[in-house]
Amino acid sequence: MPSPAASADPPSDGSMQAGAGPAELVELRRQQQRLLLVDRALRTLSAGNRALVRCTEEAQLLAQMCRVIVDVGGYRVAWVGYAQHDADRSIFPMAQAGVVEGAIEKMNFTWADTPAGQTPLGMAIRTGKPYVRLDIATDPMLAPFREKSLEMGFAAVSAFPLIVDDEVIGNLDIVAGERDAFGDDELAVLTELAEDLSFGISTLRVRARHRDAQKRLESMAFVDQLTGLPNRTRLREHLERAIDRARGERQPLALVTLNVDRFRDINEVLGYRSGDVLLTQMANRLSGLVASPALVARIGVDVFAMLLPAADAEQAGVMARAIMHALDAPFDVEGVRVEVQASIGIALFPGHGIEADSLIMRSDAAAFVAKRDRLGIAVFRPDSERANRERLTLMADLRRAIAENQLRLYCQPKADMASGRVCGAEALVRWMHPERGLILPDRFIPLAERTGLINGLTYWVINAALAQCYSWREAGLEVPLAVNLSARNLLDPHLMERLGGLLATWGGTAEWLQFELTESALMEDPVGALEILSRIRQMGFRLYVDDFGTGYSSLSYLQKLPIDAVKIDKSFVLGMQADPDAAIIVRSTIDMVHNIGLEVVAEGTETQSIWDELAAFHTDVAQGSYVADPMPAEEFSEWNMRRASSVACER
Ligand code: C2E
Ligand code: CA
Ligand code: CA
Repeated sequence: MPSPAASADPPSDGSMQAGAGPAELVELRRQQQRLLLVDRALRTLSAGNRALVRCTEEAQLLAQMCRVIVDVGGYRVAWVGYAQHDADRSIFPMAQAGVVEGAIEKMNFTWADTPAGQTPLGMAIRTGKPYVRLDIATDPMLAPFREKSLEMGFAAVSAFPLIVDDEVIGNLDIVAGERDAFGDDELAVLTELAEDLSFGISTLRVRARHRDAQKRLESMAFVDQLTGLPNRTRLREHLERAIDRARGERQPLALVTLNVDRFRDINEVLGYRSGDVLLTQMANRLSGLVASPALVARIGVDVFAMLLPAADAEQAGVMARAIMHALDAPFDVEGVRVEVQASIGIALFPGHGIEADSLIMRSDAAAFVAKRDRLGIAVFRPDSERANRERLTLMADLRRAIAENQLRLYCQPKADMASGRVCGAEALVRWMHPERGLILPDRFIPLAERTGLINGLTYWVINAALAQCYSWREAGLEVPLAVNLSARNLLDPHLMERLGGLLATWGGTAEWLQFELTESALMEDPVGALEILSRIRQMGFRLYVDDFGTGYSSLSYLQKLPIDAVKIDKSFVLGMQADPDAAIIVRSTIDMVHNIGLEVVAEGTETQSIWDELAAFHTDVAQGSYVADPMPAEEFSEWNMRRASSVACER
């Protein structure tokens, strides 16, 4: 509602002093008019301040301020324009009052330093200073707008810059209907109003930034920043709600967990950036398989989970196979073709768990079984959990076993087939468990490999082997001991340094030890293996590829490796007698290995007839029960003496 003060005419309330002359009367009127104009500005200011306090959004504040200026202040027009940093340096009308919608847009105001930008608002934005009290009828700056403005009853204009964070962001434009508007006092008040508005905008922006930051923080707590998928916390929330619903509707639900196989290696070979790209692409493929209310989450570095409301075992299986299928096609990671394999675990509500956490744990456990047993997909089985718990206690025990010296070094001789002489021995570990008795390595080595305990264990074996070699040499026995290395040992950055340290401790040389590494360990990280094996070989150690034939390595790959010998896996050797095909495989493997200049060791030489057959194939070295079973290392030297004399007798 326009205030009476908006009227340009002085009030005729007869309050003027009687008896004043005409000149004085004019002066008096002018003063009164000025007071009125100041008064309306002041009222505008206080109404404006109320808007400042009340408004919570920037656009709302601008609109309110313009309204107040026109409605309370009685000015003809008020509008706020923001300076755009576009090619035209246009001024975008953010809020307006007193004009018909769209009228200001049509004026195409600019703040560019061009003839078109020589307007009070253009100047105010460019200079950051108010351009005030411009008389529309006479000011040359307003010539282009004169006719139209006067027609609409506009008389004077003031433009105030809006400054936020030391930057002019726009202007506040006020048009008055009185030619004598914008006197000094009135302007002082209006300038303050414009400054207050700037301050209000700045405050709201700070508040908005805080709100955004808050939102980002919240989203970081629930959203995986790499893929944008819900994270583990958010999945748990969804799962809890889904379980409640499923319970109410008497429906099942499935949680499918996907583990990326060998993601670590991918990361190490291609680099972390590529690893990230791969995960993002995987996230996209997985997301493409589901529609709400099903959802995909990333719950670990290389672990995704899929929540399938209302799904039973069969439907979960169908989805698991669809996931496998979706991952079949190789990924293009920055130009590199990457094939990904995954292991998938399934857990179902209510059969496998009725709480979010237990379902997450159990589908993860199933994925672990799928990976360990190379099943691809596995549904949770309660008995596997019991086995898991047992494995966990065993691992806790093993940690202690290494520290408390419950491990025993056994060794199994290797015999040179041509001479029958012992040419070395393999170091094999045994565990004398205080309650369970003797535990064979097949029970605990694979576990130790998965938990990282294998590093400590390997150092124990290397140290024990060196100690044994030392005492043999004291007794004049120069037999090299071959220590088994696991894939994980090759990833240990301290391997070379600690090996050097142990060797120095015992005053050993590279002739004392040899190393065996299984084919499958090599294939886990062919590039990394090549590097570390080269360093071991440079130190002078002989290297054996163990369990040859069970992995997927090719002879052409072996040829590139810095190795000395290949151990044919005992499964082939033992199969030879029953299966003529196995004999052919062994024979041709021996030939091929010889052809690339390597020595052949045959494992599993259990009997004389196997020995003879292997000898006929020109096998270099034999290892197995026929020579001797593994024995405590301290018994080896006596055994060796007995054998040496019997071999001598045979000759
Ligand atoms: P491996 O390296 O292939 O060791 C040879 C295994 O074959 C030994 O089993 C040995 O007892 C067995 N063996 C030897 N001769 C014969 C034979 O004539 N017939 C049959 N059927 N078997 C024979 P062991 O000692 O139980 O070791 C099993 C596996 O445990 C080893 O296989 C090796 O992979 C791992 N292992 C043992 N000690 C260590 C160690 O100190 N470090 C690491 N990383 N692995 C080890
Ligand atoms: Ca071995
Ligand atoms: Ca072997």
